[in-house]
Amino acid sequence: MRIDILTLFPNMVKGPLKESILKRAQEKGLVKINVLDIRSFTHDRHRTADDAPYGGGAGMVLKPEPIFEAMESIKSKIKNQKSKIKVILMTPQGKRFDQGMAKGLAREKHLVFICGHYEGIDERIKRMVTDEISIGDYVLTGGELAALVVIDALVRLIPGVLGKEESIICDSFYSGLLDYPHYTRPGKYRGMRVPKVLLSGDHKRIARWRRKEALRRTLERRPDLLKEIKLSNEDKRLLREIKGLRPRGVSDLEGE
Ligand code: SAM
Repeated sequence: MRIDILTLFPNMVKGPLKESILKRAQEKGLVKINVLDIRSFTHDRHRTADDAPYGGGAGMVLKPEPIFEAMESIKSKIKNQKSKIKVILMTPQGKRFDQGMAKGLAREKHLVFICGHYEGIDERIKRMVTDEISIGDYVLTGGELAALVVIDALVRLIPGVLGKEESIICDSFYSGLLDYPHYTRPGKYRGMRVPKVLLSGDHKRIARWRRKEALRRTLERRPDLLKEIKLSNEDKRLLREIKGLRPRGVSDLEGE
């Protein structure tokens, strides 16, 4: 996959791309990420990329010309001119991002993210945009952090990026449930014990416990998600068991 990020603040995005999974995905050659400075596509001495809004009012608006030219530059460099590019505008007015969208984007060949700043971008750039994405109902200073959120979520879903595929499958939202609780050594810490079942070596019991805890968490925290998925008979049985018990905290899990 290839990803281009158009931004006025390249340094805001470069750091996270050099760390952890995003770094590894690039090193493995599974994704190529280019950061383009919108100002490099300006032509005046001051490298002007924004201007006052027509009609007056506060703030500045990103000019359309550098962004059109940046897109043309990206397109001119790709070998297969007919290949499909998804051009994503980061905006609080876009479709709310979720795991389903991340899965869809992870299957694309080429994504371009346009990061706004100030009051936003001249509306005419919409001619090039195929998707508008918001990461939530709040307003950030710029689209950089929002684009990174989307890129991080989708890159980890590209096959081969994560070591163990099951770490994706168990993640919250992947199968429609929240993830089950995780524990590691030591077995006892400050009086808190790891649930006994996890130390039993009985993989069937462990799997059942994990499924039950995932269902419990989802029921307690996001009951709306349970309405969206197809529950097996075993899931329904586990949910009946859960509903017969009061919600439990960490200390209550000690005896399991
Ligand atoms: N005036 C715009 C509005 O109310 O829709 C908000 C502009 S915001 C200060 C500047 C830029 O940050 C936007 O152009 C967008 O690229 C980005 N941005 C802000 N909040 C965002 C969000 N929730 N999701 C995605 N991008 C966001």
